[in-house]
Amino acid sequence: MPECNYDAASLPDLLPLYYRRLFPFAQYYRWLNYGGVTKNYFQNREFSFTLKDDIYVRYQSFSNQSELEKEMQKMNPYKIDIGAVYSHRPNQHNTVKSGTFQALEKELVFDIDMTDYDDVRSCCSSADICSKCWTLMTIAIRILDRALREDFGFRHCLWVYSGRRGVHCWVCDDSARKLSVAARSAICEYLSLVKGGEETLKKVQLSDPIHPFVKESLAVVEHYFSQYALVGQDILGSKESADKILALVPDDILFHITQVRKDLAAFFQTERSPTKRWDRLQSLVQKRSSKKAAHAEKEIMLQYCYPRLDVNVSKGVNHLLKSPFSVHPKTGRISVPIDLRDVDKFNPFDVPTISLISEELNQPRAGEEREEGKDGEKEVGEKRKIRDYKRTSLAKYIKVFDNFLDGMERSRKGELLRKSDLQKDL
Ligand SMILES: [Zn+2]
Repeated sequence: MPECNYDAASLPDLLPLYYRRLFPFAQYYRWLNYGGVTKNYFQNREFSFTLKDDIYVRYQSFSNQSELEKEMQKMNPYKIDIGAVYSHRPNQHNTVKSGTFQALEKELVFDIDMTDYDDVRSCCSSADICSKCWTLMTIAIRILDRALREDFGFRHCLWVYSGRRGVHCWVCDDSARKLSVAARSAICEYLSLVKGGEETLKKVQLSDPIHPFVKESLAVVEHYFSQYALVGQDILGSKESADKILALVPDDILFHITQVRKDLAAFFQTERSPTKRWDRLQSLVQKRSSKKAAHAEKEIMLQYCYPRLDVNVSKGVNHLLKSPFSVHPKTGRISVPIDLRDVDKFNPFDVPTISLISEELNQPRAGEEREEGKDGEKEVGEKRKIRDYKRTSLAKYIKVFDNFLDGMERSRKGELLRKSDLQKDL
């Protein structure tokens, strides 16, 4: 497996090569420059670097792609974070009058981390993930992406693997980048169904009638629930795990729950099939349920599978988030965009590490040397960089990024055309 190759101690040796020959600067600049429509948009963007020995440098900013490239190649950051677009250049924030330096815009971002699901997954805990619990991230992407597009009308959602145990979403539409803190909070509120911390036992409460958004989200959960939760996590596999689930059925039928528990225990003695156990539980709860418990099984499904958002990351305009194509220093994996058309097939363990792509780059290929040096120097540099990443497993993820950027550009052009047509009509 690729991750076996990675040794965190080799990171300082690998980063210079990565930033010199593999990091997709052209696409990266194309993204954050957003067509160059707004003056100083790129220049006023904050970047933060984590350097060797956890030295954290905030308020970095760059005039253009070439300055960004030069600085990254000089500093070789272990980790890159992206912040807001400010009123002034972040690297000059000390020189402007106090109070005038303000975060103006940022993508609407979401951060989903597997550690927030520790009470509902049995396969791993804390920083560990496996292909079983990764389904939780697939569910999160499907639910949130649908809602962002269909309920909020956003079109440009970039989903990125964090490099270790979670995913990030960058909503890049003009309208999303301009959202106020209050509007971001309202969106988070709309999207949050699992509420309460460790001390809260029952984290999902549905009310009648069920909101269309919850219905849509449930449809996604139902698609995965049987295979993921019943079979994969075996949530009814033991008395303890089944009791944990029964504890989520509302109190006012407490008396009945004792009976349900007895019935189930008897049933479980002879029935091993996880789906049959679930069907039995459902029918027992439904048969005895009061109004308050009408949605008990839906609430259980959501508590076990619905995306858990780190809302503080989403609410703030000036909150920083790890950049796409940053390397995860612990795993060595590159933070790569996820292809939504194939989200079920995305496997975090297939994501290349910096060691793997460095190795791939060093494997010689016949006939390549001759091409070099024919054109002007700069062109050769650019061309070589393109060919360099194409020789590695990073290529397919950069392609996903390219497609995303093309989509944004098409929208931008469409918008310009629409505006000029309107002008003509006036
Ligand atoms: Zn797992």
